[in-house]
Amino acid sequence: MLDTIFEKVDNLNPNNDIVALKKAANILKNNGLVAFPTETVYGLGANALEEEAVKKIYIAKGRPSDNPLIVHIADKKDIYPLVDSVPKNALILMEKFWPGALTIILKKSSIIPKTTSGGLDTVAVRIPNNKIALSLIKECGFPLAAPSANTSTKPSPTIASHVYNDLKGKIDMVIDGGSCDFGIESTVVEVCENNITILRPGSITKEMLDNVVDNVTIDKSILNYNTNILAKSPGMKYKHYAPLGDIFIIDGNIDNIVSYISNCLENDKKNNIKSIVIASDETINNYSSFDTLSIGSRKNLELIAKNLFKTLRECDNLNINKIYIESFLEEGIGLAVMNRLKKAANYKIIRV
Ligand code: AMP
Ligand code: MG
Repeated sequence: MLDTIFEKVDNLNPNNDIVALKKAANILKNNGLVAFPTETVYGLGANALEEEAVKKIYIAKGRPSDNPLIVHIADKKDIYPLVDSVPKNALILMEKFWPGALTIILKKSSIIPKTTSGGLDTVAVRIPNNKIALSLIKECGFPLAAPSANTSTKPSPTIASHVYNDLKGKIDMVIDGGSCDFGIESTVVEVCENNITILRPGSITKEMLDNVVDNVTIDKSILNYNTNILAKSPGMKYKHYAPLGDIFIIDGNIDNIVSYISNCLENDKKNNIKSIVIASDETINNYSSFDTLSIGSRKNLELIAKNLFKTLRECDNLNINKIYIESFLEEGIGLAVMNRLKKAANYKIIRV
């Protein structure tokens, strides 16, 4: 059991807390683990080039060893030692979106240990757009492998206390830099010759990528489950982002959604099941006789993305057994929101 250090660092001017940053960098130089804020979610950092350090990430998170880590750098030139080559399309994306929430997958060089790449011959790289993260990477002088700083299967952490609650005693330090700007993980793209494939949707949308490069496609696995699914569990291997309670996504015409969820909540009440609805600003008043959590306005999907994981964790704090959530439009960042939500719900989508 480690004695996890918890320290606040000024997110506007991290140099005001240089002592804490140096402490964190020292831990990382000694192959320890430090959680730090990024603009997407909190990351659990280790020296990406040291197998011994990276192994600890998988253990602390309980992450399957074949799920590769994203390598975080602070300067575009720092990608060159990590990869075989940087194709023109990757350069265009780096110029346009870095620092930012776009992770680029390329063929790896030999300095990336197989543990970092989950056994693959490719590596995922990005530059985070967060002053604390950038200062920390620079202070270390090596790239940081940093998956989301949560216990595997739980919702990703968007504030430092989420990290602390999950990983206290398992990691060396948590840097508290306030809440993350986006609250949803980066967009992951694989760049292969002329083709760019979105493997994970995020706040950098397909439309934004289409504006700067050709041949962007969305991997089929993201769209595959977008069918009239009726509660057939595809198996534990898809479990991700999930609170302790069971989530049901209700999809369809908004009036039908509201009446379906209200009926479910009424039934649950009769049966003494602790349930809740996660509703939008536009619909929340329809559920006034039930327990509700608000996730924001449907007109502001960025805010819904930012609130999503926090709201799912709130359900755990309230010991909720059943969670009903209204579906959102799968457009722009809505694609990322629905992707996380479907995984959190283990694909339990009810069409009404
Ligand atoms: P996390 O950092 O926990 O948000 O997860 C990183 C995501 O990037 C996971 O979905 C990984 O499967 C994906 N990823 C990282 N590296 C690669 C890679 N080399 N090839 C494919 N996917 C990757
Ligand atoms: Mg994760």
